[in-house]
Amino acid sequence: MDHCCETLKDNLEYKCEQHNNNCPDSPFTYSPKVREWSIKLGDYWEYNGPNTLHTVLNFKFCPFCGYKFPESLRDKYFDDLEALGIDSLMEPEKVPEEYRSDKWWNK
Ligand SMILES: [Zn+2]
Ligand SMILES: [Zn+2]
Repeated sequence: MDHCCETLKDNLEYKCEQHNNNCPDSPFTYSPKVREWSIKLGDYWEYNGPNTLHTVLNFKFCPFCGYKFPESLRDKYFDDLEALGIDSLMEPEKVPEEYRSDKWWNK
């Protein structure tokens, strides 16, 4: 994934030894599945599990360089899965491989 600027890219890829990718020094997160850039809120670094859900606030613009991010694909993501007859929350194991990453839209 190409991000708009090095500063954001560095923040997204930052991993510290103590908190892995949940470091309070790096609150930025990118979700390729739904094409959303966000900032994690609250004491997220206290919870280190691999599937930890964070409260997040989505960005419309890059906080470092002002780049306008493309639209979130969250609605389309769930519409597509629904059209396939899959409830991704109840049956996560049925979600097709390409819908587990950005493959379904980034072709
Ligand atoms: Zn940027
Ligand atoms: Zn840290």
